[in-house]
Amino acid sequence: MKKLGIYWFSHDLRIDDNPTLATAAGEVDGLLCMAFANPSNRNNFHPIPIQLSKNRLNFLIQSFDDLDKKLKRLGQHLWVSEVQPDIEIPNLIANLGVTHLYLSDDGYLSNQSVVEFLQREFPSLIIRKVSDYRLYSEQDLPFSIDDLPDSFSKFRRKVEKISTRIPISSPERLPNPITKPNSWQNKFKSHLNAQDSQFYGGESAGKKHLDEYFAGDFASTYKLTRNALDGMYESTKFSPWLANGCLSVRRIVERLHKYENEVTSNESTYWIFFELLWREYFQWYAKCHGQHLFLFSGIKGHKPTTSFYPERFRKWCEGNTPFAIVNACMKQLNATGYISNRGRQLVASCLVNELSLDWRYGAAYMEQHLIDYDMGSNWGNWQYLAGVGADPRGLRHFDLEKQTQRYDPQQEFIGRWKAVPTLTQLDSMDAADWPVSEGQLTGTN
Ligand code: FAD
Repeated sequence: MKKLGIYWFSHDLRIDDNPTLATAAGEVDGLLCMAFANPSNRNNFHPIPIQLSKNRLNFLIQSFDDLDKKLKRLGQHLWVSEVQPDIEIPNLIANLGVTHLYLSDDGYLSNQSVVEFLQREFPSLIIRKVSDYRLYSEQDLPFSIDDLPDSFSKFRRKVEKISTRIPISSPERLPNPITKPNSWQNKFKSHLNAQDSQFYGGESAGKKHLDEYFAGDFASTYKLTRNALDGMYESTKFSPWLANGCLSVRRIVERLHKYENEVTSNESTYWIFFELLWREYFQWYAKCHGQHLFLFSGIKGHKPTTSFYPERFRKWCEGNTPFAIVNACMKQLNATGYISNRGRQLVASCLVNELSLDWRYGAAYMEQHLIDYDMGSNWGNWQYLAGVGADPRGLRHFDLEKQTQRYDPQQEFIGRWKAVPTLTQLDSMDAADWPVSEGQLTGTN
């Protein structure tokens, strides 16, 4: 009997250092390489259904296009579906007589539930899930996932000396396609032509950015510049390509070590690795805590005192709060799909502490908009800031006035986004639904 496989590309949109693809290349006679243009975030505990923003979709479609070009050189092509995976994949398995399914073990719960469903529906289907999204594999860790250290510092001390697997090259040839190409590019022309972003999706653009980053001396000053609110090289900007799997985290670490050996090794270069370990921590955190990632009470089991106020939330989303620095960051997020780490901390602190909003709505909004959306990093960081996550110190409350003075003293960033503090009242109604009188401001800048 012929062995026929489906390769489900999800958060591994590359051919370089892709052990799942290498496994498929050596195992089946025919292969369908596919991806989903409308990925679901469905899992039982996720509070809000997500519709991808234009920026997120642009980045994704551009990444598909680049992957398609690379696959064509290996005798394959990418088949893109707009149907949900839990409907499309079972149909294809039944109609094509598929025997093998390949996907990256990226920890996303929505994909995991589809895999569990497929295993129940097709008990003889061979499913290969290979870990290629994280720096370490589960066997490398000196503890079991259930005993994940409860803080990042403890985790870092346990793992940072573990040597990482050497990245592998792309396969030279892939099994023949089992379907004709579908003409998905025609439907998504506007996303492919979108040139208004500093970030272009795909492995080729990611590799180019990686080369440019290490060709300059940005890495040797990273620790001094990483908190800047703006600028392409102030921090690495690897995250959009990492989150979509266009770049392998092990390839980045290999490149960083090369720079340390050949150019310089200092506190800044170490700090890039340190931040990648934060990413790693949140990947295992997501695996360890599963559905608790999406719970209001997080992993702590106690509910915050915040709530949901639609009007305040809308103003936060639009960048229309009493805090100019927050408004500038939100405008940047809406326009580009990216904000700096410092910016994310400030807008999250504002949502929780100044606006008393339920943190999960902020996390879901970022999920919708961030081109570097990563399940573990996004929900894990939000929990951390909201005081229901892995922070031994509890809730993080930033003084927005002081932060503005420190990170945007000349208000250049605020000016670039034409952000102003909104001085009208935050709520147009009071708790009993009476209009709030003029002058009763709920916040100032
Ligand atoms: P750099 O500073 O250059 O860091 C290098 C790499 O380390 C990043 O690319 C990223 O992979 C990793 N990293 C750095 N800081 C963190 C961190 N705090 N947590 C996890 N990984 C980190 N990061 C995402 O990749 N996706 C998200 O959805 C996401 N949501 C966030 C939400 C909030 C509320 C906060 C506070 C942070 C979030 N982060 C997220 C983490 C961080 O803000 C981004 O990784 C970083 O800003 C990306 O820019 P960079 O690549 O230039 O980072």
